[in-house]
Parts: sequence; C-alpha cells; structure tokens
Amino acid sequence: MLTIAADILILGGGASGLLAAYAAAREGASVIVLEKMPRPGRKIMITGKGRCNFTNVKPWDAFSRHIRTKANFLRPAFYNLPPEVMLDFLEAQRLPVVVEHGDRAFPSSYKASDVVDALVGAARRAGAQIQTEAEVTDVLRDPADGSFVVSCRDGRTFSGLRLVVATGGLSYPRTGSTGDGYRWARQSGHRLVECFPSLTALVPKGYKLTEVAPTVGQVAAKVLSGYDPGQARKATPWQEEAPVLPPGYPQPAGHLDRALPLSEFGRSLCGIHLRNVALTLVVNGNEVRSETGELDFTDGGIEGPVGFALSRDAVKAIVNGGKVRLLLDLKPGVPPEELQARLKSLWAEIQKDPRSRSGTIRSLLKVLLGKLMPWELVAPFLQSAPAILSGRKDNVRIDFSALAQALTAWPFDVAGFVGYERCVVTAGGVSTDDVLPKTLESRLVKGMYFCGEVLDIDADTGGYNLQCAFSTGYLAGLSAAKSL
Ligand SMILES: Cc1cc2nc3c(=O)[nH]c(=O)nc-3n(C[C@H](O)[C@H](O)[C@H](O)COP(=O)(O)OP(=O)(O)OC[C@H]3O[C@@H](n4cnc5c(N)ncnc54)[C@H](O)[C@@H]3O)c2cc1C
Repeated sequence: MLTIAADILILGGGASGLLAAYAAAREGASVIVLEKMPRPGRKIMITGKGRCNFTNVKPWDAFSRHIRTKANFLRPAFYNLPPEVMLDFLEAQRLPVVVEHGDRAFPSSYKASDVVDALVGAARRAGAQIQTEAEVTDVLRDPADGSFVVSCRDGRTFSGLRLVVATGGLSYPRTGSTGDGYRWARQSGHRLVECFPSLTALVPKGYKLTEVAPTVGQVAAKVLSGYDPGQARKATPWQEEAPVLPPGYPQPAGHLDRALPLSEFGRSLCGIHLRNVALTLVVNGNEVRSETGELDFTDGGIEGPVGFALSRDAVKAIVNGGKVRLLLDLKPGVPPEELQARLKSLWAEIQKDPRSRSGTIRSLLKVLLGKLMPWELVAPFLQSAPAILSGRKDNVRIDFSALAQALTAWPFDVAGFVGYERCVVTAGGVSTDDVLPKTLESRLVKGMYFCGEVLDIDADTGGYNLQCAFSTGYLAGLSAAKSL
C-alpha cells in the first residue's frame, strides 16, 4: 500500500493534537492528524458536563498553583499560548465565550460541540488534513533518512519528517484515549512516570455491595505492563453512561469499578449534594490536606469539587498501600464550644415545642439533625455515629460532645477509587525530564514531540487541564514546523 507523506504527523486529534495541527499548518508545514475515532475531539465533547470549561483565565502565578506536577515545565508553553490568547483564538473562530466565577471560561453557548467545531475548523482552514478512523498501531524510524513511519490498523501507512504524539491519557477510554502513546514513548527509550487516575470518586468502605472488581482485569503491579491497546479497539461504540472497560484494561491496585452495585449504606447517601462542607484527607493517621466547598455522594462514591480536589493525593496513597480516611466536617468554621452551645439551645427549643411531647429521644434527635443537615443525610449520619446516644433504653441521653465531634469529623475509611473508566484525568505519563520545555521536543529522539495528557502533567478541575493541552499542543506543533 502507498505511504502518504507529510512534513508533520500528529498522532491523536484531541485538544492538544488539534492545536498542534493548527499551529504547524499555519507555519506552512504539510500536516496530517491521525485520529482513531470516527470524529476528532471526542473527549472535549464530554468536558464540563458537555459545557466545556475550556480554560481558566488566572495569571501564571495563580494558574500554576493548580498544576499538580512540575509546573515550571509548563511555563514556556503557557506563555506561548496563555488563556487570554485562547479566548481570543476562539472568538476569532466566531465562538463567543464567557468567564464565570473562579475565572473559568466556557463557550457562551455552553456547548462543548461548538468548541470542537471551532478547533477542527481552525486546523482545517490552516491547511491540516484530519484522517479519522486512523488508529495508529506502530511507529518506526526509517534509518535511511530519519523520518517517522506510522502504520494504522487498517493497513494505511504514513511518513513524516516530524512526529507529534498527542494521544492523551487513559481516562474515559471510550473517547479514544487508551494510553497508546505511552507504548511508543517507552519503545523509543523515554521514561514513564507511573500512571494513576486523578479527579475521581473515592469509595468509602461499605459503600458498594462488593468491593472486589468483578470483570475488569485489575493489575496490581505496574500500571502499564502487559497492556495491549489493540484490545480496546474492539470495544462497543462509546457511550457516556456505560463505563465498561475493555478486557485487560490496566487499572492500579485499589481500583473499584464504578459499575459495582451500591450497598444499602451507599444507596442511602447516593444523590446527596452538600454545600459549604470541609473534607480532610488523612493518610496513615496524618492529616494531609483539607478542602472546603461542595461535595457529592454519587454512584461512584465521594466526589464533587472537594472530593476531586483530594482524590489525587488519596489515590496515590492507596496505590502505594497507604490507609486513607476522609473526615467530613458539616459545620466548618464553627468552633467546637460554639457548636455544642448551639446544639444545646436547638435541643431546648425542640423539647419546648408542644409537638415534641409524644416523641422519643431518638425521633427528636432526628428533628434536631434535620435542622443541621439535608434530611436525607440524617439516617446514614445516625448509622455512622451510634455514640451520640448513651444510657439505658429507658434513660437514653444525647452526648452533645460526641454529636459535635461527629458533625465536624464524620470519618469515612476509603476502600478504593473509581478508575480510568470514569476519572477526569490521568496522573503520570511520559516523564517531562525527557522532554525540552521550550519546544516539547524529546531529549532522546530528534524530531519527536509530546503534548497534552500523554505527558506527566495533570491539574485541578477548573479549566486547567484543557489549557495545559492547548498550550502544549500549540507549542509542540509550532516547534515541529519551525524546525523543518
Ligand atoms: C468527563 C471529563 C470532563 C472533563 N472536563 C474538563 C473541563 O471541563 N475542563 C478541562 O480543562 N479539562 C477537562 N477534562 C480533561 C481534558 O478533557 C483532558 O485533559 C484533555 O482532553 C487532554 O487532551 P489531550 O489532547 O492530551 O488528549 P485527548 O483529548 O484525550 O485526545 C487524545 C486523542 O488521541 C486519540 N488517540 C489515542 N490513541 C490513538 C491511536 N493509537 N491512533 C490514533 N489516535 C489515537 C484519541 O482518540 C483522542 O481523540 C475532562 C475530562 C473528562 C474525562
């Protein structure tokens, strides 16, 4: 079969690959993007719950605090395409944008598909060719002229003077990101920082009916060993609501498949949304980090902004064999004495109320708790804090000190975490020590560039991850074209 030649081959047509294509084609290079899915930008479609929080407009100093890996590596890419330029770029593609609280930017249509259309349109108009259903299986170097020869599963072959690897991480494999780029990076001598899921649900002990992943091949050792991405190709068409992983998909130790059924305890909590609570991560008995904000109990476990914010450190600790506990504070910022006094005065009010006359202590305690938390939370809270009631059957008393303690430090031992089937980003990847920050060219293989999530880069929620992908994609494409 004929080999199709271009100056630059870009592997992956996601956020970083599309920006790389745009930047390289604008420099006048001939560019081919090879994308395995039927359409490019599949993952972008599900970002921000379909609304696409495409960047965060904080200046570098504040932005970089949300990068959870070596932030300095990103600095040149960030300044080359900072968030405000990304805003202008999209507006120039006739996509109006809005900036919301927390400096988070969205398309004003709140449609992720509009962002995909804008990126694909910009890359194509700049002259890049996007080949879809082109799943790259092998990457070789031609010893005669140093060009890269890329084979696709359907037999097509392509050659390029430069190669940009933009294949993303391992999360949400149904979007096409199945970690293929790690293999080519490793084959060509690059170091891989061990991968693990980040921005994911943490599963409390007893939350799921069974805490043993039933069908998914759980790989307890190194994440990527023995994984054949070719198997992922046979997966049924992508569906947001069917997070079933292809057989043999790598998952680190501690992974609990999202599809595991909920226990009664899990069902009693699932669906509850809490505002203005604090969550503290405790690893091996030591408090690691606290976050205040919103929390969701879902079919996965504990997530929402504060859950996600702690998930990276929690997952890492579990993967390394640590004991992880979360402490939920339902009344953050209220000093213990003040809380106890408030509880006692609420209790006095309830007891005075004529409607309380026929109530038992237990039923009146529920009334008290209903004033302090969403009603649905009362039953699971009581189940988790039996020490609140003391004394014999005919003389039950409320221990206000135990109640205050339970309200401010409700403990959840963590049994595991939801894995790549539903995590937002992959932590780990191609070591940034093997890549030049100013160009994103490999230090080991001349002409090979890396960008986006395939690199050991991950950040908090809030638009930071997409901006990292856009900035690194743009710089990799530009550098590859300039080097021709
Ligand atoms: C549910 C969800 C919500 C998110 N929401 C946000 C958000 O609101 N804001 C934010 O900043 N970030 C968000 N993210 C993270 C963000 O989407 C990613 O960090 C970003 O898309 C990474 O870009 P990328 O180009 O590196 O990889 P991807 O976007 O994953 O693109 C990689 C591409 O490479 C292709 N590919 C892989 N292997 C091959 C192969 N062998 N041959 C050919 N093509 C291949 C894939 O099909 C894919 O299209 C979210 C992620 C998820 C999962």
